[in-house]
Amino acid sequence: MAGQTTPWLQGASGGSRGAYSDGVVHVFWLAGMSCDGCSVSTLGASNPSVEDLVMGGIPALPRVVLHHPMLAENAGRDFVEPFRQAAEGTLGAPYVVVVEGSIPDDQTFERAGHFAALGAGADWPSSLPSSRAADQPLRVTDWIWALAPGAAASVAIGTCATWGGIPAAAGNITGSMGLMDYLGIGYRSARGIPVINLPGCAPVGDNFTEALSQVLQYLEGVAPLPEFDELGRPAWMFEETVHRHCPKAGYYEEGVFAEEPGDSQCLVEIGCWGPVVQCNIVERGAINHMGGCMVAGGACIGCTMPGFPDKYSPFYKSPPGSAISGGVSKIYGGGIRRLRRMSMKTGNREPMWDNADSIPSAWGIARGKRDPLDKASAFFYKKLQYRGSVHHGKRNKKQPLPASRDILRQKGVDLDGSVDVLGERVKPREEV
Ligand code: SF4
Ligand code: SF4
Repeated sequence: MAGQTTPWLQGASGGSRGAYSDGVVHVFWLAGMSCDGCSVSTLGASNPSVEDLVMGGIPALPRVVLHHPMLAENAGRDFVEPFRQAAEGTLGAPYVVVVEGSIPDDQTFERAGHFAALGAGADWPSSLPSSRAADQPLRVTDWIWALAPGAAASVAIGTCATWGGIPAAAGNITGSMGLMDYLGIGYRSARGIPVINLPGCAPVGDNFTEALSQVLQYLEGVAPLPEFDELGRPAWMFEETVHRHCPKAGYYEEGVFAEEPGDSQCLVEIGCWGPVVQCNIVERGAINHMGGCMVAGGACIGCTMPGFPDKYSPFYKSPPGSAISGGVSKIYGGGIRRLRRMSMKTGNREPMWDNADSIPSAWGIARGKRDPLDKASAFFYKKLQYRGSVHHGKRNKKQPLPASRDILRQKGVDLDGSVDVLGERVKPREEV
C-alpha cells in the first residue's frame, strides 16, 4: 500500500535473510461468500495441525497468532483491532492474509450495503479512505484490499476464494470472483509472492497447513520458496491428476466400471472427471489421512479446477470424453484382465502343489487339478519369464515331495468328527 512502511516490508527487497518474524506471525482469516467448509477442513488438518501452528510447536517456524472470526475468543472491537493495526502498519509483526469464500463485487456500493461484512466504519484506520460511516458495517472486501499489499503472503483457501467457485457459477448475481481476480495480475505480497491458491470444495485441510508452513519456512529464511504452478497452486500437490493415484485406477485400466455411486469399480461412466482433474485428495485423504471422494465411492466433479462448477456439470452425466477412453479400455482392458487372471491363478499355487497336482486346502474351492489350458499357459509364461536366467520351474519339478507331507493322514488321525461351518462362505477367485 502506498506510503505504508513496516520492518517486514523493508526487508522484502532481498539482501541477507535471517529470522523474519521475531517468533510470531499473525494470520488474518477473512471470510467472503463462504459456507465455512474451508474452516472446518482446516481444523481437521493433522500434518501439521492448527494446534501445532498456534502453539508454536514446529521447529524453525514462528508461532501463528490466528485471527479467525469463528475461533477467536475476542469479539467486537477487540477482535477487529488487530486488523486495523495491520492495515495501518502498526501491528509490529508480519502477517499473512487468508481468504475463504469468494469475493463479492460490493465495492461499487456507495455508502452502505455489503455481501459480507467485518467490523464497522469506526474500526477502520483513519489513514485510509473509506465510504462507511462509523456505525455502518465494513465490507470484507475493504479489509482484503487494505491488508493484502502489506501481507507477507496472501493465501486463497478453497475453490470459492481461488476461482470464484459456486457463488461465481452461471447466474452469478453477486459478481463473485476469486482473490486473484480481485487483486489483479500485478499483485505481489510484501515479500514478492503472488496469490497462493489452495483450491478444493472443501479443500484438503492438510494442503493448507502444509503450504502455510512451507511459506513460513521460506519467510524465516530456513528453506527456499516451495514450487508453485502457473496458477499459484503448490506444484507438489496439484501437478498430478486425481485419476493417476485413484484406488480405482486399476479397474479403469481393466475396463471394469461402476453402475452406481458406492460401487467398488471405476466411476467414470457415472460422471467421474478424475482423468482430467488436478487434485491430491485420494493420496492425502480428506481429513486425518482418511476418506476422499473416490475412496468413499463418489465420482470426481472437478471441484479443484478453475472451471468448476459449470464446466463439469451436470454432475449426473458422464464426461463426453469418457465414452472414448472408457470404451477403448473396455476392449483392451477385457483382454488384459483375463491374462492377468491366468497369471494370478498360477501364482496362487505353490510349486509343490503343481508337483503333487493337489492343494492341501480344506477351503473346497482351492481343490482340483490344473486344466490343460492353465498348464500350457504356465509353460509358455515361464519360458518367457526365466529366459536368460535360472529356470526355477524346472528345478521345482525335480524337487521330491516332503516325506511328512499330509502328516495327519499318515498318522491316521480321524478328523471326521469336526463340524462343517463353511457352507456358502467360500468364494472362488473369479467370483471375488
Ligand atoms: S473413479 Fe475416476 S479417478 Fe478413479 S479411476 Fe475411475 S475415472 Fe479415474
Ligand atoms: S476428487 Fe474431484 S471432487 Fe473430489 S476433491 Fe478432488 S477435485 Fe474435488
